[in-house]
Amino acid sequence: MRILVTGGAGFIGSCYVRGLLDGVHPGYEDARVTVVDKLTYAGNRANLPERHERMRFVRGDITDAEFMREQVAGHDEVVHFAAESHVDRSLHAASEFVRTNVEGTQSLLEACLRAEVDRVVHVSTDEVYGSIDEGSWSETRPLLPNSPYSASKAGGDLIARAYWRSHGLDVRVTRCSNNYGPYQHVEKLIPLFVTNLLNGLDVPLYGNGLNVREWVHVEDHCRAVQAVLTGGEAGGIYNIGGTALSNRDITDRLLDLCGADRGRVRHVEDRKGHDLRYAVDDSKIRTLLGYRPRISFEEGLASVVDWYRDNPGWWKPLLPAPSAPGGEGAGA
Ligand code: NAD
Repeated sequence: MRILVTGGAGFIGSCYVRGLLDGVHPGYEDARVTVVDKLTYAGNRANLPERHERMRFVRGDITDAEFMREQVAGHDEVVHFAAESHVDRSLHAASEFVRTNVEGTQSLLEACLRAEVDRVVHVSTDEVYGSIDEGSWSETRPLLPNSPYSASKAGGDLIARAYWRSHGLDVRVTRCSNNYGPYQHVEKLIPLFVTNLLNGLDVPLYGNGLNVREWVHVEDHCRAVQAVLTGGEAGGIYNIGGTALSNRDITDRLLDLCGADRGRVRHVEDRKGHDLRYAVDDSKIRTLLGYRPRISFEEGLASVVDWYRDNPGWWKPLLPAPSAPGGEGAGA
């Protein structure tokens, strides 16, 4: 088995690759893994082992069609994580999101088609459905993305559908809720708040903090991606949900875990167009593929706080300049 993983030195992709190398996915213990990553500000080579007999790391850009054709050739399966992933940055610099998330996805899928790859998982997000006041989105609901990030991810989803419908390429799409876990860049809500609290700083909470997101541990997300890779169907779309919490609830839990009081919360101006609530119905992946999350939110969040406490050498070099996008507030 030869598997190519895009975005494998980012937060979720590196968790997936470490899992492959650690043999956590049955049947893939001998898989040879090629990681393709541009190593943008969000990618970190230190998220992966320096050397591994079953891994090859190639630095490059998924929008480079010729480069991708060369890389994909000879692989059986592809898992596509590479993306520009931060909503706040997409409000300031949307073109890079369209380039990587739409054009990059197309360039990758074209390379997969030419190389006759057996199957591809396109890793997408629950944000493509947009905000929902009550209830939850199933996979058949229309896409109503509200940020340049989610719109570019929705564009990638539609390109994936087109390569399946037009060319018969076996592409499956996952739409997961917010991830948390170790190795997540400090610009995202949980790492930003934890590292601020560990540094004795306030935490900048957007608006009234009532925005609700579902949270899934990154290892559970990777197990779900693997379930779709091995058991899903061509053209299938699979939601992956998590534990629903408001940003205020998350903040309170982080304050408690870090031994800080409520006075450390600084309310900052809300994100433009901030979606109020995301909620997905993930009964399809549970019923058809037998996927179940294994990590409870309480246990997972405590272990993540411990990880950041124990690994300042990983996150201190990533701390944003005070004026950088995302430094003003944090949502998810
Ligand atoms: P991340 O920002 O941590 O990592 C993205 C990786 O992609 C980085 O290593 C970066 O260097 C690489 N990359 C960016 N542009 C590239 C390009 N043009 N060519 C090659 N590599 C490039 O993101 P993440 O949080 O690990 O998210 C991974 C995927 O999962 C994304 O597709 C994202 O949309 C999706 N997703 C994320 C979440 C979440 O909560 N983080 C939830 C659901 C879905």
